[in-house]
Amino acid sequence: MPWPTTFVLQKEEVDENGDANMEGALIARDKVGVQDFVLLDSHTSEAAFLNNLRKRYQENLIYTYIGSLLVSVNPYQELDIYTVSQMKLYRGVNFFELPPHLYAIADNAYRVMCNEYNNHFILISGESGAGKTEASKKILQYYAVTCPTTEQLQTVRDRLLLSNPVLEAFGNAKTLRNDNSSRFGKYMDIQFDFKGAPVGGHILSYLIEKSRVVHQNHGERNFHIFYQLLEGGDKDLLCWLGLERNPQKYTYLIQGRCAKVFSINDKNDWKIVRKAFSIIDFTEKDIEHLFGIVASVLHLGNIQFEEDSNGHAIIRDGSQIKWISKLLGAHLSILQEALTHRKIEARSEEVLSPLNVDLAFYARDAVAKAIYGRTFTWLVNKINGSLANKDSTQKTVIGLLDIYGFEVLDTNRYGLFLGFGVTWGYRTFLHEFLSVPSAQQGKFCINYCNEKLQQLLIEMTLKAEQEEYELEGIEWEPIPYFNNKIICDLVEQKHKGIISILDEECLRPGEATDLSFLEKLEEKVGDHAHFVTRKLADQKTRKSIDWVDFRLLHYAGEVTYCAVGFLEKNNDLLYRNLKEVLCNSKNSIIRDCFLLSELDNRRRPETVATQFKNSLTSLIEILMSKEPSYIRCIKPNENKEPGKFDDFLIRHQVKYLGLMEHLRVRRAGFAYRRKYELFLQRTKIFIRFPKTLFATEDAFEYRKHLLISRLQAKYKGFLGKRAYQKKRKADFWRSWDIFC
Ligand code: ADP
Ligand code: MG
Repeated sequence: MPWPTTFVLQKEEVDENGDANMEGALIARDKVGVQDFVLLDSHTSEAAFLNNLRKRYQENLIYTYIGSLLVSVNPYQELDIYTVSQMKLYRGVNFFELPPHLYAIADNAYRVMCNEYNNHFILISGESGAGKTEASKKILQYYAVTCPTTEQLQTVRDRLLLSNPVLEAFGNAKTLRNDNSSRFGKYMDIQFDFKGAPVGGHILSYLIEKSRVVHQNHGERNFHIFYQLLEGGDKDLLCWLGLERNPQKYTYLIQGRCAKVFSINDKNDWKIVRKAFSIIDFTEKDIEHLFGIVASVLHLGNIQFEEDSNGHAIIRDGSQIKWISKLLGAHLSILQEALTHRKIEARSEEVLSPLNVDLAFYARDAVAKAIYGRTFTWLVNKINGSLANKDSTQKTVIGLLDIYGFEVLDTNRYGLFLGFGVTWGYRTFLHEFLSVPSAQQGKFCINYCNEKLQQLLIEMTLKAEQEEYELEGIEWEPIPYFNNKIICDLVEQKHKGIISILDEECLRPGEATDLSFLEKLEEKVGDHAHFVTRKLADQKTRKSIDWVDFRLLHYAGEVTYCAVGFLEKNNDLLYRNLKEVLCNSKNSIIRDCFLLSELDNRRRPETVATQFKNSLTSLIEILMSKEPSYIRCIKPNENKEPGKFDDFLIRHQVKYLGLMEHLRVRRAGFAYRRKYELFLQRTKIFIRFPKTLFATEDAFEYRKHLLISRLQAKYKGFLGKRAYQKKRKADFWRSWDIFC
């Protein structure tokens, strides 16, 4: 284990009499930096912050605290710090007694939950490839290993752990930034009984990237499950599904031109997923139907259309459609008709209108996306069913939020268009006629989500903390920070926000276009300080902007969105006759996903953006009612290289993760807060506290830090909310006097 510079006096920091050895401590500190940024001498300097982070990273010390927030830098190599013995080391030990670690955050949340019987969440954020998913998996493993369990609860534990590989198979994919990138947001509650044993769980998923099913950028793959099935599935299974082992045979798998990835072992992963299915209570029928759907998506992708003499689309080769009909249990001729015709209701009469070839391709892709997206939701529900705890006694929970990071870089578009010469005409051509999905609205939702989470952090830490000091009449120099509420409002305000404007445009089918949407935006939010289009660009920013684009000045930086495809993605419509076919499917999963009641429902379904907004609002409500812990993940370089610390890239992340502001508030503020009652209750037993422990007179600032931090470490939890512990000794004694 690397030698830490801890607050607790350790080997180099103690002389032979057991007193602090400043020299030894300083040497150690110089080499590996400080383990809590609060201890930096120059706490306002970004350079000092980066310097400390770099020093530690180069010593493979990837974790550093800012108070109780954990900063983690992706090591891109296996480190020997996640063993069972490490887990046991952190169990029940106070925060600052050991080097910073994920386990300390997990253990702290767990202990406070058990002691105070309240709910917690751990928010893990950072950009794609920064290590969020790995962190959440490691925390789950930590609980699985260290929490008390019984034989009966073993199954729950296994199911909690094995839900991950299943969701990853269906929801993760290789992207340019991360070979195992989560293409959905995930919030998982782990439920504990009064003894602190994990007894159940519940997962919420957000915005699976459906467009990946039908299109992947160069160097990226479709969802892992397709490759796993082809690589790992046995011969009989593939034969039953009508599939060939070679992924090159499938249109939906070859667009990224990288079906095989060095770092991924699809065959092995397939075995894990198969095992997981049996433990998570999937019946053989479920599995059969599930892979029937996966295979149908592949067959759908291979369907080609051609024009008949009237210019209408007909299916070129009937073999794929036969397989789909078999696997989905759908009537062949009706399915065939649904892919080439559109049912329109005119004056209570239904009219079938033939599609042209482009629209037929569009319908084909829409169906593939819809069945995959809904099957993913079904999968999450199924897992939830198996994780559900039937016992009605009250439980406490720890929620783990692993959610997509900010998308600032314009990879979506550049990946697609670089080298082709970006022109409006070409883009329209690709979009309209080749049915290339626009990933822009997804990016918009992801960034909106990050704005909301930043707002949550501001509300729960920066703002709450400062307001509380004011309320308590504590001398306090306000720390300035940017409150991004103004951007959240720009996106979500009723009637005035971007989502409302988008929804309004979606209500004018046939009339509204992406460009009319852009014009409406200019008209309604044009004067907003964080909104820019070409028309407004000169006044607000010097960077040029395309005329089909709009730009938002997010808290993390400027992001340009291409308006093309916004309306269509927001509507997410499926032709009525396609829905009918699926509702009547004999495949039970598909039938569960496409309910007949949907057809009768004359009300307009909620748009994608509104659905997302609503689920985000309820997520924020869930989180607001819990005690927070934060893990901020940083990606050290773009090449997934161990040891490489890219200053430019990291500085950007430090900035947009708001780490400097957080440090300033932490540094100026009080380390621990507890409610009065709890404080008194807990301090009672310390009345005979040996005062001599604190009597050491020492002139050095550093020694003061060590001393007080040692107090924090040893007796953490007995000072806090409205009973503050100041970092200086004198202040500490003052508050001690008040309470004893
Ligand atoms: P994110 O979820 O933030 O997009 P991941 O958690 O998937 O990123 O991490 C991307 C990759 O980085 C992982 O596949 C793994 O190879 C590597 N990685 C991340 N965290 C760690 C860690 N703590 N130790 C070793 N490798 C890691
Ligand atoms: Mg991830």
